[in-house]
Amino acid sequence: MIHERYEMVVGLEVHVQLRTKTKAFCRCATAFGAAPNVNTCPVCLALPGALPVLNARAVELATRAALALGCTVHGESIFARKNYFYPDLPKGYQITQFDRPLATGGAVRLGDTREIAITRIHMEEDAGKSVHDRFAGFTAIDLNRAGVPLVEIVSEPDIRSSSEAAAFLHALREILVYAGVSDCSMEEGSLRVDANVSARPRGESTLRTRTEIKNLNSFSNAERAIEHEFARHCAAYDADDVVVQQTMLYDDRADAVRSARSKEESHDYRYFPEPDLPPLLLDREYVERVRNGLPEFPAARRARYVRDLQICPAEADVLTADRDRGDYFEAVANLAKDAKTAANWVIGEVMVASNADPEAAKSVSPQRLADLIGLVAEGIVSNTAAKKIYGVMTHTADAARTIAEREGLLQVGDEAALIAWISEVFAENPAEADRFIGGETRLQGVLVGLVMKKSKGRADPKKVNQLISDRAAGR
Ligand code: ZN
Ligand code: MN
Repeated sequence: MIHERYEMVVGLEVHVQLRTKTKAFCRCATAFGAAPNVNTCPVCLALPGALPVLNARAVELATRAALALGCTVHGESIFARKNYFYPDLPKGYQITQFDRPLATGGAVRLGDTREIAITRIHMEEDAGKSVHDRFAGFTAIDLNRAGVPLVEIVSEPDIRSSSEAAAFLHALREILVYAGVSDCSMEEGSLRVDANVSARPRGESTLRTRTEIKNLNSFSNAERAIEHEFARHCAAYDADDVVVQQTMLYDDRADAVRSARSKEESHDYRYFPEPDLPPLLLDREYVERVRNGLPEFPAARRARYVRDLQICPAEADVLTADRDRGDYFEAVANLAKDAKTAANWVIGEVMVASNADPEAAKSVSPQRLADLIGLVAEGIVSNTAAKKIYGVMTHTADAARTIAEREGLLQVGDEAALIAWISEVFAENPAEADRFIGGETRLQGVLVGLVMKKSKGRADPKKVNQLISDRAAGR
């Protein structure tokens, strides 16, 4: 919604679970879906005397996230305790980073014209989970998530509409998944969004009071919640009311935003440096090594496909939407030395097969598909036959040529055989044949189709076309 008098101002805080096997400060598993409290140990249960040890893989993934977003990774960052009481926080504090975060700066590009600046990225641990619906009259605590490594990514208040917020989240997720930092699954809670929302009269440049909507668990909920909250601020200003800084919750069933509690200031958390962990020191070589391990990102890849491989932009979008798909396409294009045909195959048969049965589609290696493309290019099998052969390849290990021979799918280019099929088709369809010979050239496609059908896809369509035109010309 575009409001005529007020401008929307939104900044997002996104919590992303890092794709590690073990937790941030202990060796407990992070696997989703385990029985409650199975993945716990003295460290993440906060038993007296247990000490945290930082997970090196978590540091590497957090650094990757920061570099993927163009942030400056600091040589020294400090872990801090954020103190608060909550039943699912056994230590009574969260280990996070405060005034010395891992990285600052950076941006997320939205299309060619918009850029949303990133304020900071810091590392922290997740809390456990309170389960309210399992035992009547009781709240149960599951600490499997306690200590799972996160990065919190904070944007500048640069977002000006709810759709821009959604675009930011989509772009951010794409980058993080491509970089292998996180699976960003909202269903499993590995990406969670808090939105800071305020409104100000158009033309005003200072920020007005913001409210924070916590734990938005889908992009569409984030969009709706932001709209509601913005409308509430606008209505308050129109009624000469004030907006009070507070934390809000979005109720997706009621599609409404409710006040949760008055907003804490950072001094309420009594942050102080975590005495059990030394400063995190990352030297330049380390940061450069992580940077060199970053993949090419979707926007760059898309541009390269269009520029260097002459793939049209719409197809390039499809090919780069998934990193594995792009890798597969490139391997096939290189081996077959034909990017356009490789793109047609991947967007066509391969994606259809992959949707039906991903493992079966994966079993056709780039080399096997490139061999099949080669058989078509050499005129050994027709395109129609190649699609059949591909179907067989998804559930056998046989080479394309072996399948073509076994299934009788080798293309027939022998003129005598082709003329025999053509004569049969003409004899079986005398009316069409007469009209075609009489000058109705648009019937040629129909007749070629019938010959292809009669040959069970084996006839060489180019030669059939030529022979049929010859017949019309009386040759
Ligand atoms: Zn543990
Ligand atoms: Mn946080």
